[in-house]
Amino acid sequence: MHQAAPNIYTGELIDMTATLVPDLKKIARTEGQVAMYIGNGHAVWEASLSNVLSSGDKVLFAVTGNFGHGWAEMARRLGVDAQVIDFGKRDVVDIEILKKALTDDMQGDIKAVLVVQVDTGTSAKTHIVEIRKAMNESDHSALLMVDSIASLGCDEMQMDAWGVDILIAGCQKGLMVPPGMSFIFFNQKAEQARDKQKIVSGYWDWRPRAHPQHFFEYFCGTAPTHHLFGLRVALDMILHEEGLEAVWKRHELLAHAIWAAFDRWSVVGPLELNIAEINKRSHAVTSVRMGAPFGTQLREWLTNNAGVTLGIGLGMVDRNDPEWDGFFRIGHMGHLNSHMVLGTLGAIDSGLKALRIPHGEGALDAASLVCSGA
Ligand SMILES: *Cc1c(COP(=O)(O)O)cnc(C)c1O
Repeated sequence: MHQAAPNIYTGELIDMTATLVPDLKKIARTEGQVAMYIGNGHAVWEASLSNVLSSGDKVLFAVTGNFGHGWAEMARRLGVDAQVIDFGKRDVVDIEILKKALTDDMQGDIKAVLVVQVDTGTSAKTHIVEIRKAMNESDHSALLMVDSIASLGCDEMQMDAWGVDILIAGCQKGLMVPPGMSFIFFNQKAEQARDKQKIVSGYWDWRPRAHPQHFFEYFCGTAPTHHLFGLRVALDMILHEEGLEAVWKRHELLAHAIWAAFDRWSVVGPLELNIAEINKRSHAVTSVRMGAPFGTQLREWLTNNAGVTLGIGLGMVDRNDPEWDGFFRIGHMGHLNSHMVLGTLGAIDSGLKALRIPHGEGALDAASLVCSGA
């Protein structure tokens, strides 16, 4: 990304940008289309809704944390009738409850089911294939829209095989590029829903972005030139140097190393993983409960003494939230290896000792054993 500004009319940038499209689709495992945006995850929250929904349309959000609530709020701001089923902060989507809501919708009023694959606040991972199965079994024709902003390139995603109609992602998490770009993948069914819309705003419209006649249509104006160079390198690293399945495996192994440490630490004292069941945990982020004021104390100790920034509580944005001081999160997505994970765990272990927070012994041994592959 550190290079002179390129020619934005002809030449290398134009040719290189075209190569991003098939590689992005490989990461999402789709034969469908991709539209690229200059914007963060919130941009594609709004863009995805804007292409297939209108004011007054009814949709169903299956929510497992703050990010699901955020996407639903975005829908409400567009006048969409956003029904929310809240599965709390410590669990994934309950398939039977979702199925009942869909079978109760006798008139087929629900136009879309919206789910966050990994809610980055709670670190709960919903198995998307089961959502599609519930929709098929209740014979419902709604679109399935999935937020994989935290999970794409970390946790497995099989957009086509799992029956996802619209998938959204950002560039700054598993895709390892500084914040500023985001993506919508969509299939033919989603494209047909887009075609039925009376109005889609010129900037959010995914059609010219996915089917550009001219280079400037990719981004509805000037391209994010240097981000594109960064993205090219990231896609090469994932697809050509390491391989997507090896990337998923690396995230799985490193997540297990982190959980092994917590299994030991939590034997005594306040530490507890937010998601109890292993198959409901994300491989990209881990949320930890330890009660106030320990969470904030530990985060501040690590920032000031170890050069490690832990994530704030379950995706909360309000410092006055009574839960603020009782949590922290470890981000383990994207450009990550065992020295970073073991370093972070070692720093947490030091912090627990410095602050005299009770904890079980042997956490670092347990994590190191997992990283050794033995
Ligand atoms: C980060 C994130 C978002 C929001 O992305 P921004 O780039 O901060 O707008 C939305 N959903 C999930 C699951 C995320 O992890």
